[in-house]
Amino acid sequence: MSDPYLPPLREVIARHGLQATKALGQNFLFDEQLLTRIAAIPGNLRDKAVLEIGPGPGGLTRALLRAGARVTAIEMDRRCLPALAELAEAFPGQLTVIEGDALKFDPALLFTEPYAIVANLPYNVGTALFTGWLAGEQWPPQWSSLTLMFQQEVAQRVVAEPGSSSYGRLAVLAQWRSTPKLAMKVHRSAFTPPPKVMSAIIHVVPGVAPAGVSMRKLERLTETAFGQRRKMLRQSLKGLPGALDALAALGIDEQRRAETLSVAEFVSVAREMGRK
Ligand code: SAM
Repeated sequence: MSDPYLPPLREVIARHGLQATKALGQNFLFDEQLLTRIAAIPGNLRDKAVLEIGPGPGGLTRALLRAGARVTAIEMDRRCLPALAELAEAFPGQLTVIEGDALKFDPALLFTEPYAIVANLPYNVGTALFTGWLAGEQWPPQWSSLTLMFQQEVAQRVVAEPGSSSYGRLAVLAQWRSTPKLAMKVHRSAFTPPPKVMSAIIHVVPGVAPAGVSMRKLERLTETAFGQRRKMLRQSLKGLPGALDALAALGIDEQRRAETLSVAEFVSVAREMGRK
């Protein structure tokens, strides 16, 4: 089946008056080759369910539809809805658009099957959405992968290893039961308007959750430990009940700093704290 003709994205923007709004984190992508490469990152999407956050004028959306995905897209800016309706018409039965704030939606209510999440995220809500997806009680989650555009600095924090200045809470949350990879760097000039910083796409697949660890304990532990990252654990964790006892039980030197602990060590400490 050949793809339906679609007008160039710049023409769609001009016709629907979709000038980017800074408050909504709007930086649009127009390069269709780049968009096709991004849509390929999650693997074969033919007949697969995809959740897209922030389709805007629909650049990434059309690449996902051309890849054969069945897309549910949540967009907050109602100015974009007519352009997205045209796209839904061009790909009958493949695109459902929901007008609303993605932070207020529980995607589990939208799908009865596994789905891939793909998004050129609005930077102002990107980390909140991401940590929400990582923090779900149910594991493995219903999402089969996350393919997300972030500011490069945030992407580096997601994949960071112990000892690096980017290593912190986000790295532990993203790595303790998932595998995140830096899939692609995207130059700021690819966006209209170009943001101040470079971007990068992260691809995350869920892994096996270590047994006996509560997400809440791990979150609290990493928040407290990295809250004072330059301090020794003896100091940074002293207000967290059970934390120093857990270090002692595990033989982890309390003179170390949070940034030297591996993800596995954080997991062990959270598990040990949970035994009490
Ligand atoms: N996907 C388009 C692209 O790649 O060109 C647009 C990406 S733009 C960086 C982010 C999009 O997210 C905008 O269309 C914006 O209106 C939308 N958006 C911002 N905050 C949102 C929210 N809380 N929920 C849903 N969409 C949101």
